[in-house]
Amino acid sequence: MPRTVLLNPGPVNVTDRVRQALMLPDLCHREKEFTDLMAAIRAKLLKAFDIEEEYTSVLVSGSGTAALEMAVSSSLSPGRSMLVIENGVYGERIGKICDVYQFNRRTIKLGWGEPPNLEDIEKELKENPDIEVVALVHHETTTGLLNPLKEVGELARRYEKIYLVDCISSLAGDEIDFKSIDIAVGTANKCIQGFPGVSFVLLREKELERLRKIPERTLYFNLTGYHRAQEKGGLLFTPAIPVHYALDVALDELIEETVAGRIQRYASAAKFLRAGFKDIGLEFLIPEGWRSNCLTGLRLPKGVSYERLHAELKGNGFVIYAGQGNLSDTIFRIANMGDITHEEFQRFLKVLKMVC
Ligand SMILES: *Cc1c(COP(=O)(O)O)cnc(C)c1O
Repeated sequence: MPRTVLLNPGPVNVTDRVRQALMLPDLCHREKEFTDLMAAIRAKLLKAFDIEEEYTSVLVSGSGTAALEMAVSSSLSPGRSMLVIENGVYGERIGKICDVYQFNRRTIKLGWGEPPNLEDIEKELKENPDIEVVALVHHETTTGLLNPLKEVGELARRYEKIYLVDCISSLAGDEIDFKSIDIAVGTANKCIQGFPGVSFVLLREKELERLRKIPERTLYFNLTGYHRAQEKGGLLFTPAIPVHYALDVALDELIEETVAGRIQRYASAAKFLRAGFKDIGLEFLIPEGWRSNCLTGLRLPKGVSYERLHAELKGNGFVIYAGQGNLSDTIFRIANMGDITHEEFQRFLKVLKMVC
């Protein structure tokens, strides 16, 4: 029986080496073994993305949203506003976090899958000096749209704003220009190819001074509190220990493959799949040139419900992903993140063709 292939955007298929790292003896997180491991993971994150010079990293137990909430809630100075660019569920999630913390926010609200217009962003920045932070989702997993990270970042830089980016579904899958980013958010269980349960924030060292002046708004998700503790080789709360061990191995594998190598592997997989989708006659949600390397949004073929498509594919060992919100009846999503072989992608296309 072949294994189940996960074509959802995380959790992803991991290698046996990463899986075996979960098998641990009993241990205490406040012992040196574990705090050394955390230090190693923090360093490997910076090494993998070649940002050791200017960045530092903070680990937090929880899914990607934990690190996102930590970054958003800890990064706005009192009396200032955040500009949130929303064109999918995850941009809207940043907006929701702002609302939970009662932040002043300005929002560029677009249709799902609609790329932002740089002039609109510039206009907001020009007219609203209260804006301190610009927040963007790099890869909008809702649709598979890759937002213009670099261009928005250059605008943010020009207007001297802090640039906060949700890179959760693009880190190690799509090219990221760190030059313009001040705060980036990621998670273990997407293109990093670890298990869910630990996520992280990558931030510029020079941001720390400003961040430390911001009053603490949350006990569990205070970014500078975690940073201070982790720098001292300590930690505030009990972490999800096993998934840290798996993340450490996943990062070794990422460093071996290199981020550029992994991006290339995902890009080739996406190219191969998309040629197959075209051949089947499926319609793409996002036009060419705007798609990430990691996920493809497709319209459901006429007369085929998502439930049927999902069930037939699952019966053949492939897990696909539904659309969210308004798109749930009209699209489905195929991610190509994780440790998946070319043979598995080939077999998937064959089964998909049969079902369609
Ligand atoms: C997966 C994802 C998240 C976080 O979702 P969790 O369920 O908390 O892991 C946030 N943003 C984007 C863009 C994502 O793809």
